[in-house]
This record gives sequence, structure tokens and C-alpha cells, in this order.
Amino acid sequence: MEVTVNRARVSIVQGDITKQTTDAIVNAANPSLMGGCGVEGAIHRAGGPTILEECKKIVARQGRLPTGKAVITTGGKLQARYVIHTVGPVWHAGSSNEAELLRSAYYECLKLAGENKLASISFPSISTGAYGYPLDEAARIAVSTIVSFLKTQVTTIEEVVFVLFDSRTHQSYLSALQEVMDSPQA
Ligand code: ADP
Repeated sequence: MEVTVNRARVSIVQGDITKQTTDAIVNAANPSLMGGCGVEGAIHRAGGPTILEECKKIVARQGRLPTGKAVITTGGKLQARYVIHTVGPVWHAGSSNEAELLRSAYYECLKLAGENKLASISFPSISTGAYGYPLDEAARIAVSTIVSFLKTQVTTIEEVVFVLFDSRTHQSYLSALQEVMDSPQA
């Protein structure tokens, strides 16, 4: 599925984000930026050690990455030139400002991509794996944050791709995008 928002294309595909050819791919990272499981492990495995080296320097300089913030490193051996690392919220039954923090994670990635004059960026489904965010709610936040950013901000970004690993997540993001595009405020 692909839609146009302002001059940018927004698309939703099922696949492996490490194979994407956009300028940047987003990593749903842990605050330590030290790798681990899920999409973060896959990105470090595919991208090689230079990504982790840059992550270590960032943590030495500024400490652990706070939830809702983002930093950029090389893409190492990936086809994407850059990895943008962000930390989504851990789900605590909605009691810890999770929605706002998830919105912030997407927003800060888009902002950083624009500041680096990137034209294209791929996102995984942040927080819906190990961090346990309910999928449909997370998908709505992800899609609506991106659509509203593209509508309201001056940016170099021309293409945003959601790359969802499994079919349930893929379906949820397709429904969310449909809903956002059908809503009168969209
Ligand atoms: P979080 O800790 O933010 O919940 P996870 O890495 O546990 O992050 O999961 C986030 C999402 O990334 C999940 O939907 C998971 O299935 C997905 N995922 C795992 N590997 C990949 C991959 N190679 N490409 C795209 N998505 C992936």
C-alpha cells in the first residue's frame, strides 16, 4: 500500500528492514545502544561492527539514550547509508506516558533525517516486540505521527517506508494507514 502526503510517498511493506535501500533505516534500540535481540540484533548482525563502535562513542559522550530520543550512525555494511537509533517506550499498561513517548520516537527520527538532508527512511514497528506495546494502538500512533509530520514540517524527506516483519503487524499498519487517510482531519 502506498499513499502520497504532500510531496512524500508513504508505503507499507512486509519484510526485513536490514535489506532496505532507503538512505536510513531506523533501529528500535535499547537505551544502552549495545545491540541485543529483535530488530536491533538483526541490524547489528547485518551492518557489522562499525555501527556498534559509533554507538559506544555516543554513549561514552552523552550517556544512555533516553526514551523518545534518536541518534544517527553509519549504516556500516548495510545498503542504507545511515542507521537512526531510537528508544521506544516499554508498555506499562498506558500509565507512563507511553503514547507521547512513542510519538516522540517517530518524530525525533524524522527530524534527525531532515537535519541530515536525507530523502528516504524506513521504520520498523517500534515498541511492539519485546517492549510489549499493544499493536493496533502503536500502529495508529506510528502512522498518524508520520502523516502529520509530512503535512506540517518543511523537510527533505520524500519517502517513508514501514517495513513490518510479520503478517499480523503488516495488517495492523495497513488498517491504521487506511484509517488515517479516511479520517476528515487527514
Ligand atoms: P522493541 O524492543 O522496540 O519492542 P523489537 O525489536 O523487540 O523492538 O520488535 C520491534 C518489531 O521489529 C517487532 O514487530 C519485530 O517483529 C520486528 N522485527 C524483528 N526483526 C526485524 C527485521 N529484521 N526487520 C523488520 N522488523 C523486525
